[in-house]
Amino acid sequence: GLMAACPWCVNDRVFAGETVRMETQDQKNGRWYYMVNTPIYNPDGTMAKQTMVQDITERKLAEEEVVNSEAKYRTLIETTSEGYVMLDCAGLITAVNPSFCAMLGMEEQNLLGEPILEFMDPENQEVVRNQMAKWTSTSHRNYEFCFQRSDGTEVNVIASSTTLYGPTGELEGAFALFIDITERKRMETQLRFQAMHDPLTNLANRTLCHDRIGQALERARRRSEYYYAVLFVDLDRFKVINDTLGHAVGDQLLREVSLRIAECTRELDTVARFGGDEFIVLLEEMHSPRKAIQVVKRMRENLRKPITLAGNEVQVTGSIGIVLGPGDYQSADEVVRYANIAMHRAKGKGRDRFKVFSTKLLDHAVQLMTMETDMDNAMAVGEFYMNYQPIVRIKGGERLYGFEALVRWHHPDRGQVPPADFIPIAEETGLITDLGLWVLFESARTMASWREKYPQAKDLFLSVNVSARQFSQQDLAGKIKRILELAKMPPDRIKLEITETAIMENAAQAVVVLKRLKEMGITLSIDDFGTGYSSMSYLQKLPLDNLKIDLSFVQMLDVAPENIEIVKAIINLAHTLELEVVAEGVEKIEHQNILLALGCEYCQGYLYSHPLPKEEAEEFVARIPLLT
Ligand code: C2E
Ligand code: CA
Ligand code: CA
Repeated sequence: GLMAACPWCVNDRVFAGETVRMETQDQKNGRWYYMVNTPIYNPDGTMAKQTMVQDITERKLAEEEVVNSEAKYRTLIETTSEGYVMLDCAGLITAVNPSFCAMLGMEEQNLLGEPILEFMDPENQEVVRNQMAKWTSTSHRNYEFCFQRSDGTEVNVIASSTTLYGPTGELEGAFALFIDITERKRMETQLRFQAMHDPLTNLANRTLCHDRIGQALERARRRSEYYYAVLFVDLDRFKVINDTLGHAVGDQLLREVSLRIAECTRELDTVARFGGDEFIVLLEEMHSPRKAIQVVKRMRENLRKPITLAGNEVQVTGSIGIVLGPGDYQSADEVVRYANIAMHRAKGKGRDRFKVFSTKLLDHAVQLMTMETDMDNAMAVGEFYMNYQPIVRIKGGERLYGFEALVRWHHPDRGQVPPADFIPIAEETGLITDLGLWVLFESARTMASWREKYPQAKDLFLSVNVSARQFSQQDLAGKIKRILELAKMPPDRIKLEITETAIMENAAQAVVVLKRLKEMGITLSIDDFGTGYSSMSYLQKLPLDNLKIDLSFVQMLDVAPENIEIVKAIINLAHTLELEVVAEGVEKIEHQNILLALGCEYCQGYLYSHPLPKEEAEEFVARIPLLT
């Protein structure tokens, strides 16, 4: 029907998810327009409005003229783009205009005398037949149906009909007007599809996915023994591929992955792209919950097959969280949230895993959340403090080389919380950016105070750990520079320990930051070497000075003598890249002896000292002999 043009009302409705159709007149030029406003969903979940406009002034005029003047009316009928038909009481065509002939792709003489029903879509014939009975008694406006052309194609039309009476008042038949809306329909269908699908992969989007899960919950409530499953698939290390091979290749990978996931599902299942590299699969009508696990296993195998992208063979894996239905779930949102929790647990255990959601996982998630809020608070009230573990130079006689700063948290109820428990959460929540800067400031300040007090401390190095997440913050190098100035600590006595994974996860950005840090005179060390996905060619490109062998390798020395070969290989490799080597986790003098023989420069571990509170660490500094 006719609607006042009130753009903001329309926007409100469109952004609420509705398709709004309206006819509106331009006040300036007086023309009439038909508009279809459809919501579309961008891949990042934001909304936009898509508007299709059709000029319908001619039809509006025609409608008016029909009422007003018979003479004009005849001319119009000959020239207008709308189709006009005159019917007798039996529904036989008695007159047509050229546009109607064009609409059906037929000559006038082949139409005259024929029942109009014959040209209609068989599906709708019944409806139209019923309508026809009324045509001759009442007027109708704006109903839709299809004509079928002789070539088999369909013409969608909107029809209006008016009852015709003879001079003496007897019924003569009807006069009908048809507007071709085929193109409009096609566009509406397309817009509706776009509103529900992801443009990159053509998979269902977030909205459609929520809808379908909602319907599955509904069906499960009505039917017993209705099994469904929701899979949350997140690609492992997609970001690395995207950053190193470029976004175009990343897009290509996502398309390939979407095909591979879809291959493992049936027609009635829904595969959706949920965000960046996240996919959701809804499996329906399963015979048993076990079926879902079979699908997941097949999916993992399918994903793992190598893919060739821009000349590179890559292998992708996914971490998958699974929610099995029926269950006591209230909404699609809830199900997706649980699937996401399960996916994160799967990922936490390493790549290429899957995990079925259970309430136990929920408890764990709640625990994490409590920890998260506790940690925010800890920052504010000062529950974090630093420990310092001595690092010893073993080459050319043992002497104190510096300290590694290690953060500690004293929780008011739980006591000491190990960094292995809270650092990953701080990384996940982003608190690590603030915590990391605080750690640097606090330890640099402490070191600076020792330097002031003890002249022999001026050569000591302070090693500080930097997490992956810290690389994604704005201007990390600039912030570090200002913090060191504030702490009065020279950058050339600072060493930053960075894990390989941290660098690989932010490859492009990390290289830029590392170069800047290096220019400032900061020493850079690769931490936990050997535990990540060491890419030799990549390490070579980074401005590194040190390599820190992970303690797991040092401790392997006890297990079997042949493990010496592995440590030897790492040390030789480091030296080839002109990096000095620090071994951590050195607990026994035998370790030190072996490492010294292999050419390792520095050691750190319980053999020398545990990490110490600042006062005890200071005693180490005080004991350094003054060389004259
Ligand atoms: P990491 O960087 O590999 O730190 C070395 C860990 O080994 C420390 O554990 C240290 O206490 C422990 N260690 C030292 N010597 C020995 C030894 O002889 N034997 C054994 N078995 N262990 C030894 P800690 O302090 O629990 O820290 C664990 C991890 O937490 C660190 O591993 C680091 O990844 C992270 N972390 C600690 N402090 C910070 C920090 O301030 N910032 C960031 N980003 N991460 C930190
Ligand atoms: Ca470290
Ligand atoms: Ca380590």
